[in-house]
Amino acid sequence: MKLLVIGSGGREHALAWKLSQSPRASKVYVAPGNAGTALEPGLENIPFTAISDLVVFAQKEKIALTIVGPESPLANGIVDDFNAAGLKIFGPTKKVAQLESSKTFAKAFMQRHSIPTATFASFDNPSEAHHYIDQREAPIVIKADGLAAGKGVIIAMTLTEAHEAVDTILIEHRLGEAGARILIEDYLEGEEASFIVMSDGRNGLPLATSQDHKRLLDNNRGPNTGGMGAYSPAQIISPTLHAKIMREVITPTIQGMARDGEIYTGFLYAGLMITPRGEVKVLEFNCRLGDPETQPIMLRLKSDLTILLEHAMNRTLDKVEIEWDRRAALGVVMAAEGYPDAPQKNDVITGLTEIMTNQMSTDEFHIFHSGTTFGNQDKNEILTAGGRVLCVTALGENIKLAHNRAYDIASKIHFKGCQMRHDIGCKGIENYSK
Ligand code: AMP
Repeated sequence: MKLLVIGSGGREHALAWKLSQSPRASKVYVAPGNAGTALEPGLENIPFTAISDLVVFAQKEKIALTIVGPESPLANGIVDDFNAAGLKIFGPTKKVAQLESSKTFAKAFMQRHSIPTATFASFDNPSEAHHYIDQREAPIVIKADGLAAGKGVIIAMTLTEAHEAVDTILIEHRLGEAGARILIEDYLEGEEASFIVMSDGRNGLPLATSQDHKRLLDNNRGPNTGGMGAYSPAQIISPTLHAKIMREVITPTIQGMARDGEIYTGFLYAGLMITPRGEVKVLEFNCRLGDPETQPIMLRLKSDLTILLEHAMNRTLDKVEIEWDRRAALGVVMAAEGYPDAPQKNDVITGLTEIMTNQMSTDEFHIFHSGTTFGNQDKNEILTAGGRVLCVTALGENIKLAHNRAYDIASKIHFKGCQMRHDIGCKGIENYSK
């Protein structure tokens, strides 16, 4: 069967790469993809991004199933349009995707279905927001309601900062439409964890656990980014905690949607805070896989992803076993100079061809591309084309060995001004050796 993956990042490269390994996949298209997906055997990039063009392409090529990587096509209703055209697509509808695209929607949903989350209030009127802040204590969290590419959350350490954040978003409109409404939320102490499942509308099939690294610099310093690296499994999620998250968050979310008359089909990602008392609280929902968490997760997935997706579409995920490589996987992101504010483009990346010709046959690592393109139609020259450029992902007997292997390969790849954290997985390694 022919498959189509929507997106151009490392997450989509990893998904498409995994799908192409299935004997059932005759061809995997990526729209629009990147230089990495163009070079991958079994994958082909197509240049469309408009939903209407994708529908026409999927009909013409008789695509058996489309898988959506990023949030914005979901928020723009790609699933509704594919469904209306009689095409199969794995992802939530526009209405359901509000769980990610509107924080107010997500909070009201959680309240309605008793899913644990921080106390909050929602405002579009600045004076009312200021008044509310005066009744609360710092630290306090101000969030833009809409999709703001990771820039919509301000942790205010003082009430003065909180008041300033309200003015920046609601009066100065610095976040545009995404900040037409805000949410003010109590600050939660604890350790963050992410939890991802595949949902068929009835059942949630948990994927391997993983841990992201959001800040740009070592020791969690510097600005927030899309994610600078990830590893799997995440030891913070013990078997007891795993069961609690399924019971208190995942199952009530899938069943809550059903009770609201909707079907949650797609990947469901819960960003969680595990408080010092062991409570689980939802910080946010994403209606898709995480990037870069997907890269180590796909490297560890041994089951045929097309079979899992078929069960998800047939609402039989309760009948499937998922098999993981028992080894750990770790991905380190190599980002462009100036990322995240003003990433440089068009710098030549060296070292990739040598690694591919010398070692590409091993199953112990994979270099997933994000912001890459070809130079002057020459497929031997690969250039940077975006903030996050590559995610070098490796397997190892444990996180430390996966870390060492990923960093060893990354050290052979070069481009001007490359930014990379040096401590991906180090916290996991410390915790594991305790
Ligand atoms: P969100 O997009 O809502 O997940 O927020 C982005 C990041 O802000 C999270 O990954 C946390 O690090 C932090 N954050 C969000 N909400 C809270 C909260 N209520 N308490 C503490 N930190 C938070």
